[in-house]
Amino acid sequence: MTTLEPVIGLEVHAQLNTQTKLFCSCPTSGSAEPNVNICEVCTGQPGALPRLNAKAVELAAKAVLALGGQVQERSLFSRKNYFYPDLPNGFQTSQLDPPVGLGGFLTIDSAAGSAKTIRLNRVHMEDDAGKCVHDEKRDRTLVDLNRAGTPLIEIVTEPDLSSSREAVDFLKKLHGLLTRLEVTKGRLEEGEFRCDVNISLKPVGSPILGVRAEIKNLNSFRFVGQAIDYEIRRQTALYEANKPVEQQTRHFDHIKAETRALRSKEEAHDYRYFPQPDLPPVEVSPELLAQLQKSLPPTLESLQARYAALGLKPDVMANLLSVVGASVYFEEALEIFPDAKRLAVLMTELFLPACRQSSLEPSQALFKPSNLAKLARLMSEGQLGKRAAYDIFSELFATGADPQELAEAKGLFLVSDNAALKDWAQAVVAAHPAEAQKYLAGQEKILSFLVGQIMRQSRGAADPQLAAQALKDVLGVSAA
Ligand SMILES: [Zn+2]
Repeated sequence: MTTLEPVIGLEVHAQLNTQTKLFCSCPTSGSAEPNVNICEVCTGQPGALPRLNAKAVELAAKAVLALGGQVQERSLFSRKNYFYPDLPNGFQTSQLDPPVGLGGFLTIDSAAGSAKTIRLNRVHMEDDAGKCVHDEKRDRTLVDLNRAGTPLIEIVTEPDLSSSREAVDFLKKLHGLLTRLEVTKGRLEEGEFRCDVNISLKPVGSPILGVRAEIKNLNSFRFVGQAIDYEIRRQTALYEANKPVEQQTRHFDHIKAETRALRSKEEAHDYRYFPQPDLPPVEVSPELLAQLQKSLPPTLESLQARYAALGLKPDVMANLLSVVGASVYFEEALEIFPDAKRLAVLMTELFLPACRQSSLEPSQALFKPSNLAKLARLMSEGQLGKRAAYDIFSELFATGADPQELAEAKGLFLVSDNAALKDWAQAVVAAHPAEAQKYLAGQEKILSFLVGQIMRQSRGAADPQLAAQALKDVLGVSAA
């Protein structure tokens, strides 16, 4: 039997992070009452003229640059004609030729562990449609145009992906990049980052692509993975039964985790694209381009190299790089207290989980980078034990209190008073004479047991290193 391989391309829609819509000054915030954020332009009234939002162009160009593509100095908006109840213009304003960006790439890790480059075909701008809302009670469908005219970019890949894992990796990486750049807020549950998947199968090694299905509007990484896996199974079964795969647009039912046919795919010419006569060409000047280029933050690759040089472990690094705003937060703390490893571990084990639990971005937390730096300093100077630090962290995080003040108020500072340590050491040796003898006979490991007893006696307040020294003093063993 012929072995088949999947060929996958993605069309990703990201909502641009602007205050207002693409062609009018209506706000883009989605939480308002239905049909509040609308005007004559975004509801397609006859004679209303669109005016392009310059911020949207900037953000689109920034995305193209960050993805290694070529920003076109002049691009055009076209009308993509089709009928839909939530599309009052009777067309979507999109870009066909030339779009704002051509080419570009994103690198992911392949299954074999090596890097795999996914080529991008293009990036274009377009406006979003409204929404149809079905009112079950009255059995009618209502139209909400708040979203109509919201600016989007569409990022179209070449069909370079070959598994659900690769597609999901690509999307996570793209999402991380665009949110870090603040090109999009990228809230998946709000549909601010969603994608269509094109997928076909072909015999391994064959240059001829099979007939593809397009799965529309997936707004969760998990659904993308499930939809692709389902399509691979469905199309494989068709091939094996010698039945044709039809070119179709399909819908993913996330409850059943399967795709269903929506309609047979329109050909591109069905849309009768033509240049939008109401809008002049979009211009991106070389000056703006240079300014955008300068504003780009360090690339993921350069951050990875920097963190590796600071000695961070791969899993810790991945944490800092995958959470929006985490690396900025980390860098701020690092400027105050330059112990990268300790800061990174505190972020991974305490701070980021707390952010996740309270649905906060690092920059929104009351616990600031300066607090993290202070906490790390107290621990590294031996004033605060790990257990105590971890115990008070949820309070520090919730209140933004100063770590030094809170630890002092709770009497958590480690006891480094020699007299107290000596008393504890003598008591422990008296209570465990057999263990003390074993240690003196050369069983080094027993020392940690004895230190543990001091920690217990002192309820965690003793400085463990000084406690070990006190034991050695009491037992008459000089430090080697
Ligand atoms: Zn409007």
